[in-house]
Amino acid sequence: MKANNVDKENGNGKGNSVKERFSNSFTARKKEPNFLLSVFVTSIRLFVIALLVIGFACFGALLGVAKAYVDGTPALDIQRIEDQNLTSFIYDKNGELITEYKGLEHRIWAPLEEIPKMIQDALIATEDVRFYAHNGLDYKRLAGAFINNLRSESVQGGSTITQQLIKNTMLSPEQTYKRKIQEAYLAIQLEQEYEKEEILEAYLNTIYLGSGNYGVKAAALNYFGKDLKDLNLRECATLIGITKNPYKYDPRLNFYKRKTPEVTYARTNLVLRLMYENGFITKEQYEEARFNDKFPASTKNEGFVVLEESSHQKLYDYPYFVEYAIEDLIGELMELYGWEGSDGRKKAINLIQTGGLHIYTTLDPEIQKIVEDTIYNYDKYPKTKNSKDSVLRQKQGDRVLDIPQPQAAAVVLDHQTGELRAIVGGRLEPQERFWQNRANLPWAPGSSIKPLAVYAPFIEAGYPGGIIVDDIPVPIKGWDDGGGKGYPSNYSTSKFYGPITTKVAIQHSYNMSAARTLLERVGVEYSMNKLKELGITEPNYVEKGLPSDLALGSDPVNMIEMTAAYGALANKGVYKEPISILKVIDKDGKVLLDNKSQLTLTVFKESTTYILTEYLKNAVANGTGDRALFKNMSIAGKTGTNSDFHGVFFAGYTPYYTATVVIAHDRHSVSLEKDATGGKFAAPLWKAFMEKIHEGLENKPFYDEVPSGVKSVKICAISGKLPTKECDKTTTELFPSDAVPKEECDMHQKITVCAFSGKLPTPYCPEESKVDKSVVVLPKDSIYQQLKDDQLEKVLPGAFRSLDDLEDYDYNDPKYKEAFCPLHNEQWHKGEQQRQELTQAANQLIALVTDNMTRYASYLTQQEANTLNKAVDKLKKALEAEVLQPPKEDDPYYTELPVFQPDKVMAEINNLQQTYNSIFDAEFWDRVNGDNGGNDDNNGNNGNDNSAGSLWWNGGGRGR
Ligand SMILES: [Zn+2]
Ligand SMILES: [Zn+2]
Repeated sequence: MKANNVDKENGNGKGNSVKERFSNSFTARKKEPNFLLSVFVTSIRLFVIALLVIGFACFGALLGVAKAYVDGTPALDIQRIEDQNLTSFIYDKNGELITEYKGLEHRIWAPLEEIPKMIQDALIATEDVRFYAHNGLDYKRLAGAFINNLRSESVQGGSTITQQLIKNTMLSPEQTYKRKIQEAYLAIQLEQEYEKEEILEAYLNTIYLGSGNYGVKAAALNYFGKDLKDLNLRECATLIGITKNPYKYDPRLNFYKRKTPEVTYARTNLVLRLMYENGFITKEQYEEARFNDKFPASTKNEGFVVLEESSHQKLYDYPYFVEYAIEDLIGELMELYGWEGSDGRKKAINLIQTGGLHIYTTLDPEIQKIVEDTIYNYDKYPKTKNSKDSVLRQKQGDRVLDIPQPQAAAVVLDHQTGELRAIVGGRLEPQERFWQNRANLPWAPGSSIKPLAVYAPFIEAGYPGGIIVDDIPVPIKGWDDGGGKGYPSNYSTSKFYGPITTKVAIQHSYNMSAARTLLERVGVEYSMNKLKELGITEPNYVEKGLPSDLALGSDPVNMIEMTAAYGALANKGVYKEPISILKVIDKDGKVLLDNKSQLTLTVFKESTTYILTEYLKNAVANGTGDRALFKNMSIAGKTGTNSDFHGVFFAGYTPYYTATVVIAHDRHSVSLEKDATGGKFAAPLWKAFMEKIHEGLENKPFYDEVPSGVKSVKICAISGKLPTKECDKTTTELFPSDAVPKEECDMHQKITVCAFSGKLPTPYCPEESKVDKSVVVLPKDSIYQQLKDDQLEKVLPGAFRSLDDLEDYDYNDPKYKEAFCPLHNEQWHKGEQQRQELTQAANQLIALVTDNMTRYASYLTQQEANTLNKAVDKLKKALEAEVLQPPKEDDPYYTELPVFQPDKVMAEINNLQQTYNSIFDAEFWDRVNGDNGGNDDNNGNNGNDNSAGSLWWNGGGRGR
């Protein structure tokens, strides 16, 4: 591509650049006989050089060294000069160009005809005044430099333009005698094969001129905004002045950043003086061009303007993704060519920046844009615990910036292909290249690790120990929290949930269950192996296998790796290595890299990921991840919250994409606001971009049908085994078909209990309160046996440690007190007897009253009848209130019964008696007797009834 540009720029009659002639003549001379001959000839010459050089030293020894150095010299490779100026191109997944890519170097090749004579002269006058006279080496300067440097390791000065060209383009930069001799050897070779003009052209197009500029054309544009032909003498001298020390003499740095323009002025003036002294310019030209002593006030300096802004600093689109892809590609190239270490890395970078590659990435520009916009503009980030932590002063490139905290990052993956679709590495849009990309950094995933390291392996292994996991405060074998209690706390500390299904443990993200399942069921080794297969590389996880990492995600994991691991859950158990590069075409149109080597590995059976996905769907729909939910899409995922609110995480997937988000302070140990959980903050951010990404995508289930390896089985909710008729709590759960429970529940038994207390009936429990009930009886080796009584009562209310000796239970033995109904005791029994007596008496009174009311209805006024009825009703109500029913199913048992309080009943009896007496008084009976004449029977009866009631009442009162 770049070659075309060169031809275009050079595109008049001549039509072929020095470059091409370099290559052509080099190819022609590649034939071996010529080459050997040339080596021979130059070797002879080198002996002559060596003779001169070592005239002051031990002749024989140095001769041998020089010979050895020459033998190790790389072949003269003009290709390496030519290759330096090819721009690469980066494309998105649709093949649309995102950007040209030139690395930080800017090179534009200009043929010598285009380079002003003033520049050529300035260079020769300053660097190599005998350039046109020597044969590649300037023996006079070389000898002088050698003496000067005799006592030091480094060698400098004395180099001709030819030597510098060799040094800049073909050899490693260290300054040793070995390299120096090799450089001299190659310089002589170069001079033999090329014209002086060709060497000069190559030099002026490859020399480094500061601020990333290689060659005078790029530098002229960058510093002055000018084409070469428009430069004046002063500008030419300034450019050449830079070569001696590109950093020190960088005019932009001197004018704007360091405010030391005098450094550039003095250097430019020196170049101009050398040009004048060597006869390249006249005295007038020299005087006209040089800077005055008193600049910059002098009007003479007008018209010399160094541009403040570099034209190179314009950034490409999607920098976070593009730069991740470049990083990815560096690794791929090093592998491809067997390059290693920092040297290999440099080679790879050089190839990307200058190799004219066409790099096709997996980036989806629509998705990338959505995620960028969301992360950059989101306004619901949590606060830091202390407001002073809400910004962090950080260096980014040349700038120092106040970075808002906490920071955030997100990754979106097409899990079916392993192709990364979007990467956003921070809340700020990058202002220059290679800003910190947090998406490619490790972050603590918190509980988001549980499905990967604990539960998927647990299901894959067939739920060893059963589907029920135990969330109880019993020390976990292998859990070392530094002399603590031997198990981790749940988020709501001090609460434990007893026997729970795997589904529920995930839904509420219980730490205790996860740690116990890892260490007592899954095993660290198996967990580590699965994580390795899922592409996790963090040593704490896959080498050390720290339980606090595998179960709770305490230490950081690379976020791209986390995303790809979740991608395997979404992709039915098949892990796809995450890739950002689809293919790379080299400058000749050949495929350099494609994705055929992408690692694909089946880590879990489809039945495992089906079941886990059901659990993770539930965790989003009903659990900690509910804020990730959006309409019309299947969603599975898991929150993560770090201890002390050190950051939040969410990892989740739809049938289309897998994505992760993190929100945390750049200093991981800084706390966010209280209650900053993954559910509260990471899940909604995940939803914010995923909902937009899925707009217009059809909703579909994760699986078209239940995989054949999955069975749905009804089990006892306590033991996890097949339910018997004694099991009072069952649940239907998913199993890999080879892990379906076959044994029947061994924890439930039926015994007779008191329906009010759920405990063994006492001799006082009423017969009608005795019912059959399922109770939990712990097997001898049950882990629950290790709980203290009060702990057991909390997680398994009413459980028995053993029923073996139930028949020996003696109500009168205090040892068994806890097993018996505490409600129906002797005190209750006495009260109950009293209640029965009172009830009997009250019923007798009611019978008397209602009987007489009926019999003598005609003697009663309506008002009197009403008054009596009211008093009867109130007494009946008082009696009813004292009768207690057993608790309904699912209601808790009574822990105490109201002790019978006779006062209320007695008060109502009293009231009824008095009401009766005041209405059926003597006057009443006179009236009745008057009407009935000699009906003694009635009179007598009434009188007797009346007095009997009174007598009873007085007796009852006393009895109390
Ligand atoms: Zn059971
Ligand atoms: Zn009872």
